[in-house]
Amino acid sequence: MIQQQHIDRFIALLGPKGVVTDPDDISPWTSDWRGRYHGAAMAILSPASTQEVADTVKLAAELGIALVPQGGNTSMVGGATPPADGSALILSLRRMNHIRSLSPDDNLALCEAGVILSVLHDAAEAAGRRFPLSLGAKGSATVGGLVSTNAGGTQVLRHGTMRALVEGIEAVLPDGSIFDGLDALKKDNRGYDIKQLLIGAEGTLGVVTAASLRLVPAIAARGVGWVGVETPADALRLLRLTEERLGDSVEGFEVIADDTLGFVLGHIPGTRSPIETRTPWHVLIEVDHADLSDPSPAERLEGALAEAFERGIAVDAAIAANEAQAEAFWRIRESLSESERAQGPALQYDISVPVAKMPAFMIEAAEATEATFPGTTASSFGHLGDGNVHFHVRAPRGTSDGPAWIAAQGQAINAFVHDAVVAAGGSISAEHGIGQMKRTELGRLAGPARIGALRAIKTAFDPKGLFNPGKLIPLPGEG
Ligand SMILES: Cc1cc2nc3c(=O)[nH]c(=O)nc-3n(C[C@H](O)[C@H](O)[C@H](O)COP(=O)(O)OP(=O)(O)OC[C@H]3O[C@@H](n4cnc5c(N)ncnc54)[C@H](O)[C@@H]3O)c2cc1C
Repeated sequence: MIQQQHIDRFIALLGPKGVVTDPDDISPWTSDWRGRYHGAAMAILSPASTQEVADTVKLAAELGIALVPQGGNTSMVGGATPPADGSALILSLRRMNHIRSLSPDDNLALCEAGVILSVLHDAAEAAGRRFPLSLGAKGSATVGGLVSTNAGGTQVLRHGTMRALVEGIEAVLPDGSIFDGLDALKKDNRGYDIKQLLIGAEGTLGVVTAASLRLVPAIAARGVGWVGVETPADALRLLRLTEERLGDSVEGFEVIADDTLGFVLGHIPGTRSPIETRTPWHVLIEVDHADLSDPSPAERLEGALAEAFERGIAVDAAIAANEAQAEAFWRIRESLSESERAQGPALQYDISVPVAKMPAFMIEAAEATEATFPGTTASSFGHLGDGNVHFHVRAPRGTSDGPAWIAAQGQAINAFVHDAVVAAGGSISAEHGIGQMKRTELGRLAGPARIGALRAIKTAFDPKGLFNPGKLIPLPGEG
């Protein structure tokens, strides 16, 4: 067990500012964002430099104390929540919040791990650039957390996930050594790619202390459209048509089921459907240009949509006439989670399948789920072009006790949905990672080669198992 004398050693190392011990200050950081997981920790260690992180990790290794790296604590899978038995300390990167450099010439921002995403957005914009990844938690999520979960948002179609946006990494490995991989080389063939191993590692292989991130030109003009279609298959045809006509300027392509749109219109004041016709499916498209040349992105989008009408792909469409309307279209997309929460309890799956299989999956998996679990309703929304949707199963109408419904049905529904995903050749985690929430299911479904490799890499980096225990890696007996 961790004792006061251990905490005193950390205070001697980091000073009182670097160690939080007041239970009131600790408690907001021991539960996850959704309030599903509750842990305990005697202290939060908060080093202010890479060297302090290295010294902290060395001392923890000497004392045999487990560490849970934490940034903004916005993990959707309980990834940054410490174990409930108090056997670990939180290692917070939030004091390491400097943008060390931002170079428009290199198109690079060198950020410490604790830099908050929206702060990076603002700094890039001030330099005439942008960091092309955004998500709902941008006001809290940190660079270290984004790297460690390989986050992706609505711009993955054009710019990729963090794996594509991280040019270099600095990290402290479990033995306390500093891995300096910030050189951002275009070509580097020195064997295994340590940077890519650390991206998406969920804090199980070490602590990311800084990352060099790719910037792109700022948006000069955008066209934002809302299109009603009959089926997800038509939505995919629309995506391919717009790509053919507009090239890689298609930055966002989000598909939304009509029932889900209905929740927004019903629960979020001031929202209204951008189109008159209630079609079974809706598509939100954004086309971006870095220059102001003619034709504008809105005009080019209009041309592509005219062709979509001719081909019978689109049923109705609207193009935002100005920025306020464009924002109103996006507000609908960004309000989906909030409106669904207002609608009632739901189980949420962040899944991917091969893009070509997604339209059929969206229909068939929903029908099969509803048939197997009578009273539930299922539908999906999200990034069709990435083969990634949020597939949600809602409790039967009138269910007032959400936790009781989840306790009774959750495990069976989880297994049913995940089995369908695996049968379609997909992944049970497209965005949020495994954390503690999906660890057992990963063990059940991943296959011996993947699990063997995960465990071998973990043991090679962290033989004492002191980094983020209980997350990501299936436990013995779990696969
Ligand atoms: C409202 C909302 C919307 C979201 N939308 C999206 C979305 O569209 N797409 C998407 O991909 N994700 C989304 N997420 C989840 C997203 O992955 C996380 O919010 C974010 O990437 C985590 O950043 P964080 O700083 O909060 O990390 P934390 O939650 O603190 O940690 C996340 C994981 O990373 C580890 N970690 C954190 N910092 C470090 C570090 N410096 N070194 C090593 N390990 C570290 C932790 O141990 C944990 O395993 C959303 C979350 C919320 C709450």
